[in-house]
This record gives sequence, C-alpha cells and structure tokens, in this order.
Amino acid sequence: MEKEKVIVIGSGPAGLTAALYTARAMLNPLVISGSELGGQISITNEVENYPGFPEGITGPELVQFMQKQAEKFGARLLIDEVTEVNFKDGSPFSVKTHGDTFEAEAVIVCVGASPHRLGVPGEEELIGRGVSFCATCDGFFFRDKNVVVVGGGDSAMEEALFLTRFASSVKVIHRRDELRAGETLKNRAFANEKISFVWDTVVEEIVGDGKVEAVRTRNVQTDEISELSTDGVFIYIGHYPNTSIFEGQLETDDRNYLITDDRMMTSVPGVFAAGEVQDPIFRQVATSVGQGCAAAMMTERWLEERE
Ligand code: NAP
Repeated sequence: MEKEKVIVIGSGPAGLTAALYTARAMLNPLVISGSELGGQISITNEVENYPGFPEGITGPELVQFMQKQAEKFGARLLIDEVTEVNFKDGSPFSVKTHGDTFEAEAVIVCVGASPHRLGVPGEEELIGRGVSFCATCDGFFFRDKNVVVVGGGDSAMEEALFLTRFASSVKVIHRRDELRAGETLKNRAFANEKISFVWDTVVEEIVGDGKVEAVRTRNVQTDEISELSTDGVFIYIGHYPNTSIFEGQLETDDRNYLITDDRMMTSVPGVFAAGEVQDPIFRQVATSVGQGCAAAMMTERWLEERE
C-alpha cells in the first residue's frame, strides 16, 4: 500500500488548483486524474470568461497550463480512475484505483459532474453514431450536415454556436419557449443565421439504423408528434455530480451533490471537496478554481492542527 499525505481525486480546474496549492505547501500531493484528464473543460472549445485570457483560451490549453503549473511545484499526476474508497473509518483513508491501493492522511475530492442523458430510445445505441455530448470532440464530423442541439442553457448555446463552423444548419430543440442561457450567448445564437429554434418541444426518440437519421419530437403544448431529419444530435441538458463511488461514505444533498461546510470539508473530517461535485449553483472554471484553492488551504490547516 502506497502512503500519501494528500490525494486529490480528479484533474479538472478544482483538482489541479488544489494540487497547485497543496504542492506549494510542500504536501507532495498525488493527483488521480479520473477518466478524463482535465475533466469537462478539456472537451470545451473556447473559454472566454476565465480572467487573465482576454482573447479566450481553449479548454485543453487551459488544462495543460494548470497541469504544468501544479507539476512545477511537485504535484504528481497518476492517470488512473478511483474505483473504491474507505472514508468511514477516518484518516488515514484508503483509496483504490484500477492499478493500486493508496493510503492518504487527507483527501480532496474534485471529481466534477457528467452530462445528463435524455433517456429516450435510440440515444444509447447511437452514441458515437450521430449522438454526441461534445461538439468540440465531434463537430468536425458534421461538415455540411444538419444537426440538432437539445437544451436551452449556456452549454447548449455555446455548442450550437461552435457547430455552425461545420454544420450547414443547427436546430435547437428546447422544452420551453424561453432560453435559460445568459444574455451574451443567447443574443449570439439568435443572431446566427445557421441556428433556428424549435420551441416547446421534447425529443422522444432518436431514430436511425446504425447512424442517426431523425429525431421524433413532441410539442409539449399541443402533443403533436413530428419527425425531424438530422445527421447528428448534440445533447446539453445539464449535469449530475459524479458521487456514486462515495455513496454511504459522504453526505450528499437530495440531488447527490456532496455537502461541504464553509471550509470545504465534507461530512468526514479530513475529506474535503471542491468544484462541481459539491457546487450545483455556480459551475464556472473561475469558481471551481477558487473552491480548489480554498479546499487545499483548509486541508493544509487540518493536517497542521492534527500534528
Ligand atoms: P443548465 O443551465 O442546467 O441548462 C440545462 C438545459 O437543459 C435547460 O435549458 C433545461 O431546460 C434543459 N433540460 C434539462 N433537462 C431536460 C430534459 N430532460 N429534456 C429536455 N431539456 C432538458 O445546464 P448547462 O447549460 O450545462 O449549464 C450549466 C452551468 O454551467 C450553468 O450555470 C451555466 O451558466 C454554466 N455554463 C456557463 C457557460 C459560459 O458562461 N460560457 C458555458 C457553459 C455552461 P429548462 O431551461 O426548461 O430547465
């Protein structure tokens, strides 16, 4: 069993910031990356609202900078996924990955959130065959094609706008007649000639034999069923926190977000959390970075007080 002072679980903006701060506090953190190095931001095309980058920066570039900075001060990155933890018996905590088992005096959980699925027939079977949750990853394959985007939030607008670089038309299907997205993205989407909107409508089935061919939709006002031909379906209907491996170990709210106190500590002393796994409200790179920093500072203090 490998013994560690601090393990950071997750390598998104919260995790890499927690790594930077604990590394600078000479705590020699081990960062366990999770399935996606950099988390959700690594599949985001353009980050325009993270301070310090007036021209914007791509998600992968920002992750690379954050990783480089944390490693410069001694953080160690392990590309692996945590499969099991034992937090219940207190510090030292056991953390198992596919390849190893670790013991850590303190843990900072930064495992983020994942995209919700629609849960309709055809969705699961056609993932990678026209159904996608990442325009940045898959948009290129839809050059001169017609695509639909499902959702009315900032993510849906951002990705719809990105898709206009490739696709010949982008139809946004939204369940209400008003977008949830903020003014900037909303106005940009309204102004884009390639984007049109299908209001008050939900997708009930994704239709296709081996690849996406159409979506079957229902107007929630009239119950009218329609079939809309399309080559791709990009789904952006929000996220859920990745807390299943902590079930029964850490307290969560009714939507499964980890509960933390004002010092970023979870229900188990010595286990801290930061970023979207405990934040259903702000969910920005800037706030995740701030929470990662706070969690690291509190971890340092907690370890110091114990000694
Ligand atoms: P979100 O704000 O929760 O929006 C989810 C959208 O999906 C909503 O429009 C919602 O409809 C719709 N929806 C939810 N469940 C659905 C279902 N089962 N069927 C059909 N539609 C469904 O999620 P998000 O867009 O991923 O954004 C998450 C957070 O990240 C937000 O705080 C957002 O501001 C932030 N964000 C910011 C930026 C930026 O500033 N550049 C970019 C991306 C994300 P209703 O509107 O009817 O609820």
